[in-house]
Amino acid sequence: MDRVTGKTCIVTGAALGIGRACAERLAEEGGAVALFDLHDNEGEAVAAAIRERGGRARYWHVDVSDEPAVKRAIDDVAAEFGGVNVVVNNAGISGSTKLTHEITEAEWDKVQAVNVKGVLFCCKHAIPHLKAAGGGSIINLSSIYGLVGAADVPAYHASKGAVRLMSKTDALCYAADRIRVNSVHPGYIWTPMVENHLKASGATDIEAARRDVGALHPLGHMGDVDDIAWGVVYLASDESKFITGAELAIDGGYTAR
Ligand code: NAD
Repeated sequence: MDRVTGKTCIVTGAALGIGRACAERLAEEGGAVALFDLHDNEGEAVAAAIRERGGRARYWHVDVSDEPAVKRAIDDVAAEFGGVNVVVNNAGISGSTKLTHEITEAEWDKVQAVNVKGVLFCCKHAIPHLKAAGGGSIINLSSIYGLVGAADVPAYHASKGAVRLMSKTDALCYAADRIRVNSVHPGYIWTPMVENHLKASGATDIEAARRDVGALHPLGHMGDVDDIAWGVVYLASDESKFITGAELAIDGGYTAR
């Protein structure tokens, strides 16, 4: 119950899905949690529920693609919680499903602004605080599609490939500062993002689509949000103190083939 006790953990995209589970599990393990998101009602509710269970949490409205807003919020977290130790860059969008020959520049840029620049801005403005704390852990949410290709959503896949190598680069650049940087690569996890993606792809029977997508994984089903959150807790904690620049696939064997 105290795997991250004493650590202040920022989780982006913490109102829903995987980010919410990360915030909840980090709080259960003793972390003080700063939740960043755009869905204010849901984000406030997650933070309030953590506080009701005796944890420490506060919600900030932050668009991760807005650099001044990211800097303000991270500085604010450091002032309120006495520093920053862990950053979980989870906020992401799937964006346009258009293929390369039809996608517009604006549709492409929208995905990169959140999924790539959002990670950049949060790392850029958290790193001075992590250095001041004597080190820390950054966990970047990539995807199985940051490891292997697939014949759809090129803007999303490109963004997740970028996140994978941004993580390795920063792992090397900041190792001497005792800042660890790792990427997490989920298989399909049942969240609002996946439900919306299946609907946008034309699925009418969502339960059947869910089973079909689950069957793509050797373990035979989709993952759930806690499968990812427990991996994130491990990378946030000192249990993983010798791990940096690693890519943790939590994917039911999807990328093992
Ligand atoms: P989700 O859509 O269910 O939740 C994402 C959260 O991010 C939402 O609360 C949303 O409001 C927030 N968000 C979006 N844009 C934001 C912005 N600009 N600023 C701040 N917050 C923003 O998504 P999810 O399925 O929980 O995915 C979380 C992360 O995991 C994403 O990076 C996603 O690419 C990655 N991922 C998910 C899956 C999956 O199967 N669900 C698989 C691989 C990778």
